[in-house]
Amino acid sequence: MPSRKFADGEVVMGRWPGSVLYYEVQVTSYDDVAHLYTVKYKDGTELALKESDIRSQSSFKHRKSQSSSSSPSRRSSSRSRSRSPGRPAKGRRRSASQSREHKEDKKKTIQETSLALPVLVLFKPSENNTKRYNGEPESTEKNATSCIILEQKLKPDLEIKRVLEQYSLRSRKDDKKKEEIYSEKKTFVAVKPIEKVSTKTKEMEFGGRIGTFTLIFFLPATVFYLLLMCKQDDPSLLNLPPLPALESLWDWRVFGVVLLWFFLQAAFYLLPIGKVVEGLPLSSGRRLQYRINGFYAFILTAAAVGVLLYFEFELHYLYDHLMQFAVSAAAFSLALSIYLYVRSLKAPEEELAPGGNSGYFIYDFFTGHELNPRIGSFDLKYFCELRPGLIGWVVINLAMLLAEMKIHNLSVPSLSMILVNSFQLLYVVDALWNEEAVLTTMDITHDGFGFMLAFGDLVWVPFVYSLQAFYLVGHPTTITWPVAAAITVLNCIGYYIFRSANSQKNNFRRNPADPKLANLKFISTATGKGLLVTGWWGFVRHPNYLGDIIMALAWSLPCGFNHILPYFYVIYFICLLVHREARDEHHCKQKYGLAWERYCQRVPYRIFPYIY
Ligand code: NDP
Repeated sequence: MPSRKFADGEVVMGRWPGSVLYYEVQVTSYDDVAHLYTVKYKDGTELALKESDIRSQSSFKHRKSQSSSSSPSRRSSSRSRSRSPGRPAKGRRRSASQSREHKEDKKKTIQETSLALPVLVLFKPSENNTKRYNGEPESTEKNATSCIILEQKLKPDLEIKRVLEQYSLRSRKDDKKKEEIYSEKKTFVAVKPIEKVSTKTKEMEFGGRIGTFTLIFFLPATVFYLLLMCKQDDPSLLNLPPLPALESLWDWRVFGVVLLWFFLQAAFYLLPIGKVVEGLPLSSGRRLQYRINGFYAFILTAAAVGVLLYFEFELHYLYDHLMQFAVSAAAFSLALSIYLYVRSLKAPEEELAPGGNSGYFIYDFFTGHELNPRIGSFDLKYFCELRPGLIGWVVINLAMLLAEMKIHNLSVPSLSMILVNSFQLLYVVDALWNEEAVLTTMDITHDGFGFMLAFGDLVWVPFVYSLQAFYLVGHPTTITWPVAAAITVLNCIGYYIFRSANSQKNNFRRNPADPKLANLKFISTATGKGLLVTGWWGFVRHPNYLGDIIMALAWSLPCGFNHILPYFYVIYFICLLVHREARDEHHCKQKYGLAWERYCQRVPYRIFPYIY
């Protein structure tokens, strides 16, 4: 097996993916399995490159001297380069011999282009190109509609054309083509989107192997602890609730209902209703297709629940067996995670998640090894992300509302219960209505599908997020109308920030030329994507998290101040989002290098203005 050619720390010339441009880079590591070098560009951007995309610096110097002196054909071409051999003077008609000469010249030009281009490019990259590739905007800010989008498939060609143009190595035909390309009213930054090639995960998150191993036990234990506590009349953090008998935790009928629920939602997902959209480009440049019909699934589920209630099915069965439901859902998510890990072992390298390919079983099992596991066109991660868990959360909340009415003999639910149910219903309906936005989130674009998301989507969300409603059944809380109105205003503010921030970013990512975004400014980055610096994303770096946290507080307040339990959600959520924000910052720094630093200087606060 050939050994690696370049050593760690060596300064070499690395080809910028999708272009013919080489830049000085430093080798930081080598992956023996994928045969990829991780190299660092001067702006801090890290990429994984194949050996064939790396050259030693000396080889470039050697080629440069060759190109300028040794080859006669090159010498002649070099001379003629200044007067552009491919371009006869305007209005001059060619004779047959001139034409032959021209053909000869053209041949030479082509030969020169292919031979000398890398050398030329290497030693005199265009100022603009260099800036752009290094994440520096040509002009620091642009309005969302003012830049030029070049279709991805044209980009490598255009890059070559730009270089040819710079050194007058193009023919008139090329000129014409170029004019046509530029005259099309396109709209984005002229660089191929560069995604890091999927390779071994070097930086482990969540405390690495020990942390993820612990979390596999800690997360389920937390769910059961919270549910047990909520059942207590007087829950106290210091008094552990008595543990239930093991056999009381399992009921095959409940497990059957969980399976039925999952497959019913899967059937709704498969219905050929709703539009089909493309996700963001993968590292291979491919785009996956997704059916957007989550909202229809919600309507169908609501109809099914309505029918059950009409036939007097006692939905508070869910309340009575909540712990058993949680255990069944946890068992199902564990089985699903095992399946996902086993199938990921056969997945091709480029389909593995950037963050879940460490080579350590526990870590990859937890974070998710495969990025987009699919059975045919059925995308398992995308399906689980919003449907069984999120819609399940609303159904559990409804069951709590009915249980409260039944247990406390109420003709209408309490005001607190109405607020909690309504706020959370709004959140879920919003997520399903804007289902397409999930395609640009970290969960879809970066994280693999493993235990973390399977457990999170199918157990944590429905059973922990419904904790306030569950708490209110056993701990009735009375709030006045003015208090209810104040909490509602708080929720609306949070929702407004959350929704408009997410929509702004999502619309910008999908179509930077969207006229609705014309007033927003952004800075260009090396990847071709812009970073918004005005609007919500110019307020703080994660305005959507800010809105989400404000809403989380509004969901807890209707439960009063007797116990910290209903505030678990807001406390946990702040920790989650602070940690998630740090992860995202880290990824963005790697993706955007200097441009990200500029963004951070411009927008100094992460989530809370003037605080954090
Ligand atoms: P975000 O939607 O916040 O997306 C982060 C990405 O946005 C970055 O990686 C970057 O990706 C892009 N970005 C960052 N800054 C800018 C900018 N200035 N201009 C344009 N694009 C930018 O990530 P999440 O997936 O974490 O969150 C999505 C939503 O889900 C949030 O509202 C969050 O609150 C919510 N959420 C809810 C949870 C819950 O349990 N209820 C859990 C987690 C999240 P790129 O440049 O590659 O496009």
